[in-house]
Amino acid sequence: MALLFTVALAILLGWTLAVAISRQRTLDRLRDATGATDTDDIERLVRHALEQADDARWQAEQTSHDTGHLTELLTAGVVRLRDDLTVEFANGAAHVMLERRPGTMTGRTALEAFVDARIEGIARTAMELGSATGELTVRSSDGPTVTVRARRSPVSGIWLVLEDVSELRRLQRIRAEFIDNLSHELRTPLTTISLLAETAAREAESATPRLRDRISKIEIETGHLTQMVNELLDLSRIESGSAQLLLDDVDLVRVARSNAERLRLFAERQGLRIVLDVPERVRPVRGDEDRLGQVLINLLHNAVKFSPDGGDVVVGVMEGARDIRVWVKDPGIGVPAADRARIFERFYKVDRARVRGRGGTGLGLSIARHVVESHGGRIWVESEEGEGSTFTFTIPFAPVGAPAPAKEITAAESRAGT
Ligand code: ADP
Repeated sequence: MALLFTVALAILLGWTLAVAISRQRTLDRLRDATGATDTDDIERLVRHALEQADDARWQAEQTSHDTGHLTELLTAGVVRLRDDLTVEFANGAAHVMLERRPGTMTGRTALEAFVDARIEGIARTAMELGSATGELTVRSSDGPTVTVRARRSPVSGIWLVLEDVSELRRLQRIRAEFIDNLSHELRTPLTTISLLAETAAREAESATPRLRDRISKIEIETGHLTQMVNELLDLSRIESGSAQLLLDDVDLVRVARSNAERLRLFAERQGLRIVLDVPERVRPVRGDEDRLGQVLINLLHNAVKFSPDGGDVVVGVMEGARDIRVWVKDPGIGVPAADRARIFERFYKVDRARVRGRGGTGLGLSIARHVVESHGGRIWVESEEGEGSTFTFTIPFAPVGAPAPAKEITAAESRAGT
């Protein structure tokens, strides 16, 4: 009995000692972590830490609440996906845009929630690459047209923002159709006027110089009007996506040579030489030869138009690792710094008084930008006022990650279809 009592006492003592040591260790660790000197200090600091944790929890709840509240006020759809692509949150606008009943998206997989593999695809791409965008028409052909922007959160999950752009696209279509119809209607009478002016010019050889001068002005102005109408038509087709790119292997050195040749006479009449700075050969790019030629013609035309004092216009081509670079350098009046970013907008012209008599439509550079960007390239200008300008564009060999042209067909497909 005494033995049993002694063993039990020993166990009890051992256990009490173990608890005391463990407690001391915990206290030591707390002392180390907090820098406190005595037990009261530790208690005060622990209480403070707990209060702070409570505050933080309350603030997190409040922020989450506010975010939910705020997104309900937005007309844009907002969806948050977890890393496994299940919906953590979706606001009311997202449900309306995607034609889902209120509250039916949360907790479902992206595919179940959106019932649209394209949106899920955009989310997946954002998960892989950090961000992605796309535009789609929801289900039925008369459903809303929605742009989707997805971005991976730096912490976890993905945010999707959806915007209904149906009305914007409808108005753009109406505008494009209007310009298209108008240009077509204007073309026929313009062709007639142009032919009549040409005939009148031929028949007026014996007429007074004044009459001949007037007829020649009619010819020039009709030419301007015809160019404007053609450019308007071109731009509206390119913008609406109805202008298809005819893709083929394009040798940009050949394009540069042939278009420099086309404008040589026009340049010489203005006392300008067109000089080529091109290598023997470059790798071909995938593109639409006529459209790329049109870009060069627009740039060369401007270079000549805006270089009143003669000199050399240089057309250069250079092969890079990922793209071909083409430039047109002129010794002309230059583009003021304030206008450089805007001259690629449609109808934008630098101070009209400055270029009196050389005015065009203000559409050439806008068309050039559309064509270059639809090939996945870039176009820009470097210029010094009064010293000249260099317009450069690049066409990538493989337009990886570039926005695909609205519609594209290969030259072979086009030939097969005609
Ligand atoms: P357009 O030449 O028909 O007016 P563009 O879109 O081709 O229209 O050019 C827009 C404007 O940019 C021009 O009106 C002109 O003010 C300016 N610009 C374009 N190219 C040059 C150039 N090479 N040198 C100076 N200014 C230029």
